[in-house]
Amino acid sequence: MHNKELSFIYTIAHELKAPIITIEGFLNALLKDFSHELPGDAKEYLSYMDSAVRRLKAVINDLLNLSKSSPDDNKREKFPIKDIINDVIIRMRPIIKQKGIKINIHQGLPLVYGNKKQIELVMENLISNAIKYIGRNNPDPKVDIGAREIDDKKVIFIKDNGIGIDKKYQDKVFDIFERTPAGKKESEGTGIGLFIVKNIIEGHGGKIWVESCKRGGSTFYIYLPEREEDGSIKDSDS
Ligand code: ADP
Repeated sequence: MHNKELSFIYTIAHELKAPIITIEGFLNALLKDFSHELPGDAKEYLSYMDSAVRRLKAVINDLLNLSKSSPDDNKREKFPIKDIINDVIIRMRPIIKQKGIKINIHQGLPLVYGNKKQIELVMENLISNAIKYIGRNNPDPKVDIGAREIDDKKVIFIKDNGIGIDKKYQDKVFDIFERTPAGKKESEGTGIGLFIVKNIIEGHGGKIWVESCKRGGSTFYIYLPEREEDGSIKDSDS
């Protein structure tokens, strides 16, 4: 996605934020101050409005994140991807614990070259998806994060044993607002996360893809090119 489009998205999302916060504020005030005067039906309607407002806020928040995924953001450096993964896992510890998920971080995770904040957003999205779509009745929920060589290239993977993605949706899930039917049943999402992830990875000259099948878990692979001695980025061999 181009910078112009991203800054347009930023402007719109930013404009929408203030009125939504006002609506949310008055909705909460209504519920708090007048709850005892309202009939049951009115309270029910307000709770529907409340969940719609929460959804809008989530979409606006993700659109703001999307606007930060500009490929021209050139603050790039070399850093161990493991550090970012550890930070993300620490932040997600409560939900990991609540769902009883075993997280296995493998040895051999590489140094990567990129914009640390953006790569962190990538890891946050992929790991939170692995957790979100692990499946309610999964008897042994597990997420593996590691690296392996594919065609002489070091590729990072995030593998879960969750609900999986039907073959026919595997390319679509990277498009904006696309969610699988199984995913919709599992959790409230916006369908923006993987679009952000793809935009960032491709902005770094890299690649992302998924291998999965329905109910068979999903493995997301990321390839990020290394930096050449002269400062240019190695081609992703596309
Ligand atoms: P969302 O906010 O809905 O999670 P994403 O763009 O991150 O949006 O993902 C798009 C859709 O892809 C999800 O709604 C879900 O249907 C599917 N999906 C993403 N990650 C996984 C996963 N690890 N396992 C199963 N389905 C997934």
